[in-house]
Amino acid sequence: MKVYIGDVKKEVGLTSQESLSKTFPPLSFGGEKIPFAQPVQVDLTVTNCGSELWLEGKIKTAFILPCSRCLEPFIYQVEAPLKLEYRNLDRITRASDIEAEAKSADDMYYYHEEDAVIDIQRGVVEALLIHFPMKPVCSEECQGLCPICGANLNQGQCGCKRSTIDPRLAILGKIDLEKKLKK
Ligand SMILES: [Zn+2]
Ligand SMILES: [Zn+2]
Repeated sequence: MKVYIGDVKKEVGLTSQESLSKTFPPLSFGGEKIPFAQPVQVDLTVTNCGSELWLEGKIKTAFILPCSRCLEPFIYQVEAPLKLEYRNLDRITRASDIEAEAKSADDMYYYHEEDAVIDIQRGVVEALLIHFPMKPVCSEECQGLCPICGANLNQGQCGCKRSTIDPRLAILGKIDLEKKLKK
């Protein structure tokens, strides 16, 4: 995913707006390969801050993920902020190196004076990983699976006799019982 910097790099203070779209290979997350449901779209502003370019914008795309409750794959819409700093390798001084190390070195990227484009794909992937959902659900109303027979309860009731007590309340009930037993 390439950003044209040929004009913006000419003068300090210049900015440029970029709108990019690219199909990414599946994302590697926690040993899983997460496929994208659509191309990755990035809208950003590039600002020339002297010895570095500051890229700020947002990422829009969608993943195909299994629902954490019913396990059915669904399309998860993603919107994530993007902030990347690209340092000019040919203008790095000792002082700015020390300053760079003081910040987190992970999100530091570099370009050369003569570069007309920079590839931001790695930075975009890292921003997506940081904002990856921990417990994605296909819908807030998702009923999940029956704990007894494993049926998808969104497709109707299975007939199992499940306790209707909220599991959190069930735990409270147990604690009370244990206290009584100790007396
Ligand atoms: Zn679900
Ligand atoms: Zn069941």
